[in-house]
Amino acid sequence: MTAILLAAGGLRAQQAAQLPALKQEVAAEVDKMQTLTQQMVDEIFSFSELGFQEYETSKYVTGILEKNGFHVERGVAGVPTAWIATYGSGKPVIAFITDIDCIPRASQKPGVAYHDPIVEGAPGHGEGHNSGMAVNVTAALVLKKLMDAHKIGGTIKLVPGVAEELLGTKAFYVRAGMFKDVDIVLGAHVESEFSTSYGTGNGEWSGLVSVQYFFHGKAAHAAGAPWEGRSALDAVELMDTGWDFRREHLRPAQRSHRVIINGGDQPNVVPSEAAVWYYFRELDYTHIKDLYDLGNMMADSAAKMTGTTVDHKLVGSAWPPFLNKVIAETQQKNIEAVGMPKWSEADQTLAKALQKEIGAKVEGLKEKIDPLAEPVKKPTGGGSDDIGDISWNVPMVYLMYPANIPNLPGHSWANGVAMATPIAHKGSTAGAKVQAMTALDFFLQPQLVQQAWDYFRDVQTKEVHYEPFLSADDKPAVEMNKEKMEKFAPQLKKYYYDPGRYKTYLEQLGIQYPTVRTQP
Ligand SMILES: [Zn+2]
Repeated sequence: MTAILLAAGGLRAQQAAQLPALKQEVAAEVDKMQTLTQQMVDEIFSFSELGFQEYETSKYVTGILEKNGFHVERGVAGVPTAWIATYGSGKPVIAFITDIDCIPRASQKPGVAYHDPIVEGAPGHGEGHNSGMAVNVTAALVLKKLMDAHKIGGTIKLVPGVAEELLGTKAFYVRAGMFKDVDIVLGAHVESEFSTSYGTGNGEWSGLVSVQYFFHGKAAHAAGAPWEGRSALDAVELMDTGWDFRREHLRPAQRSHRVIINGGDQPNVVPSEAAVWYYFRELDYTHIKDLYDLGNMMADSAAKMTGTTVDHKLVGSAWPPFLNKVIAETQQKNIEAVGMPKWSEADQTLAKALQKEIGAKVEGLKEKIDPLAEPVKKPTGGGSDDIGDISWNVPMVYLMYPANIPNLPGHSWANGVAMATPIAHKGSTAGAKVQAMTALDFFLQPQLVQQAWDYFRDVQTKEVHYEPFLSADDKPAVEMNKEKMEKFAPQLKKYYYDPGRYKTYLEQLGIQYPTVRTQP
């Protein structure tokens, strides 16, 4: 046994010496796969599926992986569109993760520098999650090839971020033990730059709970017998008013916002049912938990004032991400080795025209890579990502690959403009190289895996210990977006990308690249 282990160790040491050559091979192999990468970007863009409804996307991606010898387990963690794909065996186990869901009302023709939806009012990839699987699957297929050819031991796993826009699944993945045997997690997310970070990064990340409050009153004729009724909508409004007054006395780091998801049916019926949906964001577990408790108290108080009752449902949660320094330093070297994609004049023309169109700073696409920055000392908070829960359970980094245009508002049609164009295709190819190279670094240097875990144990989790927001009874909100998707899927289907007939999605849609406003 020891002799075998030594032999295996010896083989790894030899392979480690060949790392620079193997990385060159990675880059060459990823380049050879550019057509498949482009097809994945375009195909998933055309599916435009909202969180928990990513059926076409998951079927398509797992199909590619199975065809290439990956073992796929579907419906994991109680989520129908979630899955885990595995190749190889033994240690280390390296998992790739990336999101697959899109944004409501963000339908947009790619390559067009002004608002022009493919299907009016439909969901669309107004964040760019359509490119993530192109990055991770390309990287995984190339790694598989190298592992076979050079007898590299270890296991690759791929996992989709289902319903990331709802912060809806990753805490459930953790609860289901999906990362128990995983040594390193390499996440990938679309950006307009090529970067990685560690610790709390630039500090613009919050954690959150996403909670829906359902108030129950009593219906009555609103003119004939209002005294008989108890308005659930009154309770929603009082809760919101209460929260807005209290907001002044909360820490500046908090962010909270809500939408009323049910405001009643018509004015002459006292609303017996009403509901409001809150995101409560803060910088750490304790403060998020405090906001959650405060929200529950406000809801109960509003119910008391109005003679209604209330119950609530946790529909999403996320710890603020904390990323691993050892992996980030390793990844940064690969980012610098790969370098920014070469943007064409057409790419820059599209980028500048869009920036002008929306009134953003007109700078075009980024061409330089910044050095790895130290985490900021005082995080300010901002958006959230449910990878946070994974990052507190396994050493993890989040690669930002350059597949979108800078200075965009986020979560809107504008963020979809570049996402099935050469900008997204080239950015995804660059991202795939870094994902595969970084995985290779950890496959061939067991001491690096050890160092990543040392940082995880001795620095990151020395004083802070993961506690899930989920209770044992919380279930993933898998019914969300169902109606919206059923409404739009038949229309979107007509525009699904057919790579058998068209080289690119732009070609299929008959879009001249780039299409910009002709100035009078
Ligand atoms: Zn995202």
